[in-house]
Amino acid sequence: MAFDAKIIREEFPILDQEVEGGKLVYFDNAASAQKPLSVIEKEAQFYKKDFSNIHRSAHELSRRSTIAFEEARKYVLKHFNAPKNYTAVFTRGATEGLNIVARCFGEKFLSEGDEIILSEMEHHANIVPWQLCAMRTGAKIKVAKILPDGSLDIENLKSLVGARTKIISIAHASNVLGTINDVAEISRIAKKAGAVFCVDGAQSAPHFLDDISEIECDFFACSAHKCYGPTGEGALIAKTDILNEMDVWQGGGDMIENVSWEGTTFRNAPERFEAGTPNIAGAVAFAEALKFMDSLDKSAVRVYEDELLKRATDHLMKIEGVKILGTAPQKVPLISFVCGNIHHNDISTMLDANGIAVRSGHHCAEPLMNTLGIKGSCRASMAFYNTLEEVDYFAKKLSSIVKLFA
Ligand code: PMP
Repeated sequence: MAFDAKIIREEFPILDQEVEGGKLVYFDNAASAQKPLSVIEKEAQFYKKDFSNIHRSAHELSRRSTIAFEEARKYVLKHFNAPKNYTAVFTRGATEGLNIVARCFGEKFLSEGDEIILSEMEHHANIVPWQLCAMRTGAKIKVAKILPDGSLDIENLKSLVGARTKIISIAHASNVLGTINDVAEISRIAKKAGAVFCVDGAQSAPHFLDDISEIECDFFACSAHKCYGPTGEGALIAKTDILNEMDVWQGGGDMIENVSWEGTTFRNAPERFEAGTPNIAGAVAFAEALKFMDSLDKSAVRVYEDELLKRATDHLMKIEGVKILGTAPQKVPLISFVCGNIHHNDISTMLDANGIAVRSGHHCAEPLMNTLGIKGSCRASMAFYNTLEEVDYFAKKLSSIVKLFA
């Protein structure tokens, strides 16, 4: 059955409102997606009825909260179809997950002259932690190139792999170009080289590109807030035995086995990386958001999101002066674009004046902006609750704005 965005929108009350510029068109989903009622209500209910601290006290509410938190962890693993040898560490988001990998894996196992492979399309969250790791260990960063259409140049990546390659860390989907990378192929390249493979899943997870058993990575980091869940929450899904070999992250309660003045022993993963009181309600609401995603017909959503992307691409290609950044064959439904000499902030401000929310700037991908020879761009990023009418309206307004400036 075809996917009906109009019905789904009823679950997202925030979308149905007038903003100063008119009826809201929310095309900033890659920055953060909106939350369905089930998630909002789940978090409120949890605080109203069940909340307490977890893993500690011998009372009913603590038991309920502990069960809810651990059930949430199980659900995250189920949603991402993680095989039995994986676990999920709850984090503050993809950024924290990637920092844990760079810090606790990188600094433990990399030394002077070892190599880390990234790509030109990475978000700062998958660059800066590795730069810190390189600074502290003496490891080197090598950067795989992109092709003119914004695809990853796999041959170039292969040519960078060598005896000192210890880790390949790549975005599953680019937050600027939209490109969906062939992570299964990159996983094979990493395995052949004996390197660990880390996937930045921040932009793929919201679009059901989330089967860990197919990706076969060692680490997969994502954020709940881009998957229709709360902010300040995410997961690092990783092979348990690797996590147990890694250095610990923060120290504190819950991550320890025994503490004495003579020294401290640590628990195994996932608790090893969850010092202190976690975002308990956030984890519960994250699982609820994934349940919401799982209640949808995944393949119908993929088809629908492709339709949104195609419609927007077709429109934008017809607007004189508009250049789309990234035309890879496989994309998540987002379009970054520049409009000749018109500043991206002016375009987004004018779109906002018409009720249309887009992002503008460097999108936390300054090295990619340099590669593309631009300072920034606008980005319209869509989700399954957006409609074709919204896409048409956006394109019509953009066309008038560009004409106005011309
Ligand atoms: N990687 C990519 C590709 C992203 O788009 C983002 C968010 N813009 C992140 C990592 C970081 O996610 P968060 O800010 O939720 O930690």
